[in-house]
Amino acid sequence: MLAHAQASADIRAQRRREADGAVQHKAAGRAGRAIYDAGGKKQLPGKLVRSDAGGETDDAAVNDAWRNVGITLDFYAKVFNRNSLDGRGMRVDSSVHYGDRFPNAFWSGKEMLFGDGDGIHVLGFTRSLDIVAHELAHAVTQHTVAGGLGESHRGRQVDLVGQAGALNESLSDVFASMVKQWHAKEDVHAANWLVGEGILAPHLGRAVRSLKSPGDTRLTYPDDDQAADMRAFVPGGEVHTNSGIPNRAFYLAATAIGGNSWEGAGPIWYRAMGRLTSTATFADGAEATVEVASDLAGPGSKPHKAVIAAWRKVRVIP
Ligand SMILES: [Zn+2]
Repeated sequence: MLAHAQASADIRAQRRREADGAVQHKAAGRAGRAIYDAGGKKQLPGKLVRSDAGGETDDAAVNDAWRNVGITLDFYAKVFNRNSLDGRGMRVDSSVHYGDRFPNAFWSGKEMLFGDGDGIHVLGFTRSLDIVAHELAHAVTQHTVAGGLGESHRGRQVDLVGQAGALNESLSDVFASMVKQWHAKEDVHAANWLVGEGILAPHLGRAVRSLKSPGDTRLTYPDDDQAADMRAFVPGGEVHTNSGIPNRAFYLAATAIGGNSWEGAGPIWYRAMGRLTSTATFADGAEATVEVASDLAGPGSKPHKAVIAAWRKVRVIP
């Protein structure tokens, strides 16, 4: 969530063990969920504490993760008729209490891992629907774009790099925003377009990112350096910095089209994702969304014009 570089050596070692068959994840016939308790350690998956067969536990992190993973899966099923993250009904496994006050939450490539945060700077992640939805969207992208979008594999380490990696980050914020707004029944004007509200300690900041105004530290936190258009693009820069540009393009398109994000701009972005290659640039993202808008709503239609105007405003296309 905060930086994928924090996906640690522990995860790489764990993946190695999983590849060796030490841990097996079976896909279920329908989109099931399982929550494991890692007990403050980094041995995965931990102890199974909640599955489709069981009810509430007395651990808030378990129940929050269960609920927010469920809402996200419901969103994909009801809005996009998508059967789980891979479109084929995979069971979604999550491990909570991952590591000792681990200040991050992320999709490992196979499962969701939630640290508890240090309780001082970063609070728990499981209760934040849009953080959960952001991470699960990385899995959707992984299963949609052949070879992964902007994934760089060095040995067993996976990093997101370049414009494609920033597009990947942006898609996660875009879908997280849709899930958040869909669940709250907020249209594009009622929504505040913040991601990660309430996960930072109040004295450190209000949210992690703003799609409406990337890099606006009054809305987020003092070190927010997100770019709002190509003039602030950082060549070779961190993907969470440059993702502000396509994030704002979605915000601009969604608000110009109006209504609910998941009914207006959302389906355009969802379909366009399937047209991206693993090395797609921002211009490729613009081209794909403009084409889909034209296909869905017609050339010269309001959505078509809105998508073109959005990418122009962030200076990705002339
Ligand atoms: Zn991310």
